[in-house]
Amino acid sequence: MTKQLDSLVNMTRALGEPQNDYVVIGEGNTSMRLDAESFAVKASGQQMHNIDADGFVSVYLEPILGLLDHPPRSMSEQKAITEAARLDQNSARSPSIEVSFHAMLLQECGVKYIGHTHPTAINQVLCTEHAAAFARQRRFPDEVVLCGPQSLLAPYGDPGLPLALIIRQHLRQFLERNGEAPKLILLQNHGMIALGDTPGEILNITAMAVKAARIFAGALQLGKATHLPDEEVQHLYKRPDEIYRRQLFVEEGKTH
Ligand SMILES: [Zn+2]
Repeated sequence: MTKQLDSLVNMTRALGEPQNDYVVIGEGNTSMRLDAESFAVKASGQQMHNIDADGFVSVYLEPILGLLDHPPRSMSEQKAITEAARLDQNSARSPSIEVSFHAMLLQECGVKYIGHTHPTAINQVLCTEHAAAFARQRRFPDEVVLCGPQSLLAPYGDPGLPLALIIRQHLRQFLERNGEAPKLILLQNHGMIALGDTPGEILNITAMAVKAARIFAGALQLGKATHLPDEEVQHLYKRPDEIYRRQLFVEEGKTH
């Protein structure tokens, strides 16, 4: 099991590097699909930059998805279901409070890795009235290639099950509208979630989203921020050489 978690451990440590300013103290959480029935998620109270395999908990998917379909009436009932969902009932660790959105996104978006962080540059934008424009618009080509043609913006929700339910509701509308899952989910007044099939993809999406947020914030200070027209965004996203580049990023991630 420890070896199986190597890629998740390395990705989580990289996201937690202090110089990135993506998270501080116990902020953020990550997950990885293990098989059809289970996934590993960061344990509650762990720091990302120095985490090891012992800092993750393996959890069955189904009981956690059940929490979203039938929200328990009390926190104690929710906690009991979450603890019982662990593969190792003797583990001293409890899953992150955000275990429910990890399960839901792994399932509904069909991805293998998830990285949730609170980068200062991203939250500078998500704590303003400009959050919707940042999610909907694209300002430069590599933002389109890495972060997709649009991000999903979820309104603020209480961390835990209430937030997972809000994200699911908005995700389903996004899927209906766009026909494919987002690569980047922005949580109003909270942070971001990168979705991908390799650790490299998660790191690239996070880095590019942070760069885009810095560019947007700087542009707003200098004047009226401009963005790429929708048809240009679609053209970039569907260009064969850009699709090739995107696949290369995914392949590179597999070696990390
Ligand atoms: Zn968070």
